[in-house]
Amino acid sequence: MQRSYEKLLENNRRWVERKRATDPEVFTRLSTGQQPRFLFIGCCDSRVPANEITDTGPGEMFVVRNVANQVVPTDLGAASAVTYALKALEVQHIIVCGHYGCGGVDAALAGGTEGILDFWLGHVRQIARQNGDELERLPDQATRARRLVELNVQAQLDHLKDLSVVREALDAGRVMLHGWVYDLRDGLLRPLAEEPA
Ligand SMILES: [Zn+2]
Repeated sequence: MQRSYEKLLENNRRWVERKRATDPEVFTRLSTGQQPRFLFIGCCDSRVPANEITDTGPGEMFVVRNVANQVVPTDLGAASAVTYALKALEVQHIIVCGHYGCGGVDAALAGGTEGILDFWLGHVRQIARQNGDELERLPDQATRARRLVELNVQAQLDHLKDLSVVREALDAGRVMLHGWVYDLRDGLLRPLAEEPA
């Protein structure tokens, strides 16, 4: 096995040097606490790095990533992160960010995969089934996949609203929800939905 991971440690040391050069107190400041205004829920895909595509740095965004950017009611990990972000950090915006070219969405659309991943993607398959008529009318599989990426983002916003902690924050006007899609082909984020509108 190549020792490619060593590059990461070297990169880290250089990154620390660069950070300190422009902002000598950065790590002292970050070590005292965090006050991010955003919670970002995105996909694990290596081409969609949350901080990089939004040009944000450490401390600016609380991040949850999982395969196909889902908010599944039984996923205690995501629900805990949402609860902490709203209750403790008091984030003002929750962003669900899908991306075109999502392998998880493609697999769900193709009918499934194997084992535990298939179980996880079953939630996306269900969204495909619920929107079967609309997807069937589209001309080809690539167009259907892009549409399912968007439908998945919308469905995850709905799942967020099913969490009582989100419902309360929305009712109190303390948070906005955003549905975005990232396009791998041009690097741009496209807003799809917003609540309250
Ligand atoms: Zn993905």
